Amino acid sequence: MDALLLHTCCGPCSTVAVPALRERGFEPVALFTNPNIQPLGELARRQEALRQYAAGAALDLVVQPEPGFDVWMRELGAAVDGSADERCRLCLRLRLSSAARTAAERDLRLFSTTLSVSPYQRHDLIAVEGRRAGREMGVEFLYVDLRDRYRESIEASRRLGLYRQRYCGCVPSMWEAWNDRLSQRRRAG
Ligand code: SF4
Repeated sequence: MDALLLHTCCGPCSTVAVPALRERGFEPVALFTNPNIQPLGELARRQEALRQYAAGAALDLVVQPEPGFDVWMRELGAAVDGSADERCRLCLRLRLSSAARTAAERDLRLFSTTLSVSPYQRHDLIAVEGRRAGREMGVEFLYVDLRDRYRESIEASRRLGLYRQRYCGCVPSMWEAWNDRLSQRRRAG
């Protein structure tokens, strides 16, 4: 099998992304690098769920010391107050660039991301920013659309007892998800 660096956002998405890549002949080295996740307690829960999954799946896992939310905020700068599109684009750029750099440092030709499991992510931005990061670091980004396995990831997470997050990661996304749930509850009466 060919080795591949896999940017991993969480345990639940990994439950389908890792088997999907293995089915295609790749053995992933998982990298957790997500300074966008706030607060720190949430970051720890997601890391722990990924460690739990990795131990059971014999997955090589690297947890990168996070540069911190302050770096994420500085990198995104004014975009945090701007459109969600711009915020997400820069957020994906930061994380996928880190993954591409790690792939190059480890002499891995290919890298990919578990973010492509979620139907809530901007897949157009994942593809563009992944390819851009790959070009800059001299590695190739493998985009695999795994949205059709999203339900499967929910079932696998339940079966394995993995923590599943309820929002994307940043404080604005936490607020948006909370607001959506509140609106749904109000509509339901
Ligand atoms: S919603 Fe998700 S992808 Fe977008 S900026 Fe927040 S953490 Fe990043």
